[in-house]
Amino acid sequence: MSVEFIPNRVFYEPGALDYPLGKTLVERFLQMGVSVSATASHNRITGIPGNTAAVAYREAKRTLVIGVRRSKTFQSCKPSAHYQLPLVTSCPGMCEYCYLATTLGKKPYVRIYVNLAEILGIASSLIQERLPEITQFEGAATSDPVPVERYTGALKQTIEFFGREPNGRFRFVTKYTDIESLLDAKHEGHTRFRFSLNCSEIVKKYEHGTPPPEERIIASGKVLKADYPLGFIIAPIFRFEGWQEAYRRLMERTAEELTRRAPLGWSSEQLTLEFISHRYTAKAKATILEVFPNSTLPMQEDERKFKYGQFGYGKYIYQPEEMKEMKEFFQEQAKFYFPLAQVEYFI
Ligand code: SF4
Repeated sequence: MSVEFIPNRVFYEPGALDYPLGKTLVERFLQMGVSVSATASHNRITGIPGNTAAVAYREAKRTLVIGVRRSKTFQSCKPSAHYQLPLVTSCPGMCEYCYLATTLGKKPYVRIYVNLAEILGIASSLIQERLPEITQFEGAATSDPVPVERYTGALKQTIEFFGREPNGRFRFVTKYTDIESLLDAKHEGHTRFRFSLNCSEIVKKYEHGTPPPEERIIASGKVLKADYPLGFIIAPIFRFEGWQEAYRRLMERTAEELTRRAPLGWSSEQLTLEFISHRYTAKAKATILEVFPNSTLPMQEDERKFKYGQFGYGKYIYQPEEMKEMKEFFQEQAKFYFPLAQVEYFI
């Protein structure tokens, strides 16, 4: 199945036509034969079909909104970065456990912003405010920014913006592999390019509309060859029959590809690893079951431990002894396959 994102319908905010990218995109989608219409107002998108939550969700994932970002500030993004850098909202992928499921609601249409120069201007002011400290920005807090890159080129421009910024750093994470256009970006080592990985047993079952792990691993090798600081997020980690062997193979195959592609003098010291075990909130579970009524995601409260969280949202995580076993397992694997890598956390 191709994962190339071609929207079924496009909406544009009338204000988007004041920007060259907005005009170009509207013309391009019209030429492609995609239905294009103006939205009545900012933030109110009507006209996404679907009588059930499941159908409306799928149609929303095939809907692109060309917008203008109006807010003059960025949200904070603790602890991984100082600020979110909003380039895109949502993503055409349909991972059943998407981390955006609770925030984006039941019609998570994809929104891109055409006023990139203004957005980067805000980043520039925020960097100035924190001088002489380095300021970190996260580009995937509200989306996977890669699937729409073919249309906007925003990620490449952002990477090059940070390449010119001695005191700014950028990071993002993706499951997508359409990254050729980013390989020659002048990043100057200021962008950490991370891939989200999981074993194929899990990707096939739950990460609908995303490339298989093997393709992500091959893409990560290209990114490494292009000298980017590289990272992996292994998430969400599940326990299932044979989980250790499945995740071991994933780490082994990744290490093999990186060894093959690494530029001279590279060592795993420059690699970051993040591990996140599967967890869910009651609210996320309700949304998931509405959108994916036949989901086989393991979400049995009596099998999990309830952990009180920030803002009153408790999470269901694995039992303490299971977590301990998983943490030790991944620490061992990391040490074996990437002896010098920086394990940022296991949660
Ligand atoms: S690729 Fe990422 S952002 Fe897109 S649906 Fe999957 S988890 Fe969500």
